[in-house]
Amino acid sequence: MKPQEKLKEIIKKLKKEYPEPKTALNFKTPFELLAAAILSAQTTDAHVNKVTEKLFKKYKSIKAYADAIPYAFKKDISSINFYNNKAKNIQASAKKIIERFNSSVPKTMEQLITLPGVARKTANIILFNAYNINEGIAVDTHVRRLANRLGLAENEDPVKIENDLMEITPKKDWGNLSILLILHGRKVCQAKKPKHKECALYDICPSRDI
Ligand code: SF4
Repeated sequence: MKPQEKLKEIIKKLKKEYPEPKTALNFKTPFELLAAAILSAQTTDAHVNKVTEKLFKKYKSIKAYADAIPYAFKKDISSINFYNNKAKNIQASAKKIIERFNSSVPKTMEQLITLPGVARKTANIILFNAYNINEGIAVDTHVRRLANRLGLAENEDPVKIENDLMEITPKKDWGNLSILLILHGRKVCQAKKPKHKECALYDICPSRDI
């Protein structure tokens, strides 16, 4: 099977398993998603959602994040790992968005990656989930693992994996592919004990015997 055909088959099968793919991070505004995505680095989405449930009620505008007293803001997210840096990045991003981007979270990759704490993966998450823009494919630990196990990429470097996936995936599917692989990685193709026998991709997966 050609890589493009295989990819098409993977998307078709995963869409059956996860008919309404969307990010597990809760948010109502693009800035809330930006904050949640920064908080989610090396933290579970479930824990981030628990913290942001209170956070989003307390801080209701980008200005509120920018103006918060740093000590108090850090305390609000202190149950999350690396909260010190994450707090600094969220507040610095809020300030920059107000000063440089007219108080709106940017809608381009080029501008988004100028924000503190926002690299390509976070920018892809924001563009697709907040603005429905397919600019790239967010590669996290699940996407990296599944891309390799499924034989879609042969790299460990997220940028190279993203390029490999973009080459064989129709642009309209970029955002969904990332979410589908993440959902499948969490539920079935887990890092330590992948549930091969329960997997919808068993028939076409070169790693089903690992
Ligand atoms: S068959 Fe196994 S290794 Fe392949 S995608 Fe499914 S769970 Fe992962």
